[in-house]
Amino acid sequence: RAKGEGRGLYRFFEQAMDEETRVRRTLAFELRDAIVENQLELYYQPLADVSSNGIVGFEALVRWHHPVHGTISPTVFISIAEESGFISELGEWVLRTACAEAGRWKEKLKIAVNLSPLQLEQPNLPEIVHEALIAGRLAPNRLEIEVTEGSLMRNPQRALDVLRRIKALGVGIAMDDFGTGFSSLSTLQSFPFDKLKIDRSFVDRVGEHAQASSIVRAVLGLSRSLEIRVVAEGVETAAQFHFLAEQSCDEVQGFMIGRPMPIAAYADVVNGETAVPSVERLRA
Ligand code: C2E
Ligand code: MG
Ligand code: MG
Ligand code: MG
Repeated sequence: RAKGEGRGLYRFFEQAMDEETRVRRTLAFELRDAIVENQLELYYQPLADVSSNGIVGFEALVRWHHPVHGTISPTVFISIAEESGFISELGEWVLRTACAEAGRWKEKLKIAVNLSPLQLEQPNLPEIVHEALIAGRLAPNRLEIEVTEGSLMRNPQRALDVLRRIKALGVGIAMDDFGTGFSSLSTLQSFPFDKLKIDRSFVDRVGEHAQASSIVRAVLGLSRSLEIRVVAEGVETAAQFHFLAEQSCDEVQGFMIGRPMPIAAYADVVNGETAVPSVERLRA
């Protein structure tokens, strides 16, 4: 291959990388104004209890309605917020908003909030959680925080300390995206988890893929013996739902039950206007 050709390709990648860095830097800058400009919004995705067949809570999932780029996914801007040191401010906004909104619901449903690994490194996180509960007049047992396996590995001692202090407030702790990280099953015992969320990548293949089904079955068996509730993420089909129900999975979440949407879309559920909010009804 001619030398010039490789150089051209290199230039191409270099320019593409410059472009990406530039875009991320601009977004990081704009993100700082997004809160005061009211561009951030929490969407809510229902969690359904399998045995009672009803909605027991919602997970808050943040959205950024950018004036030029439209709605930007949290998978993009959470990492930008982490890199630019803005995540603690963003995380605090999410906590306070979720507690305030859930505090206004007539039904005493649970509200789950995601935490970035960097938030777990903030020694004053338990105080921030406590203040959000007070300001939103939300009972601590209605709040659940979700952390990933990776966030425990960075500094396990500090993470354990912070999680214990949050749990002492009466708040629930859930392990998110279980199975995608590197932690061992013993992590489940050493950290104060009330709940475990099996990652969507396993749920995707249950029923049709023997290996995924065995993993899900094993996780359910282990969690039962540790008395940890299990939620299956990303339930999209009736076949997946029936497999999970048969294996006595406690809760399900996914497009089949409901998509993340502004809370107005679930007004009837949070205000108790649906006599028995059931999975069957939502599936119809
Ligand atoms: P997560 O906590 O695992 O949230 C579940 C993600 O899976 C959500 O994506 C949701 O829309 C998607 N999902 C739910 N059910 C289904 C399904 O049946 N099929 C498919 N294909 N996808 C489904 P989303 O809202 O884009 O959020 C992505 C991730 O961004 C979240 O993953 C969470 O880690 C992070 N995130 C979202 N909001 C926040 C936040 O307020 N703070 C922090 N630190 N992270 C957040
Ligand atoms: Mg989550
Ligand atoms: Mg998850
Ligand atoms: Mg996930």
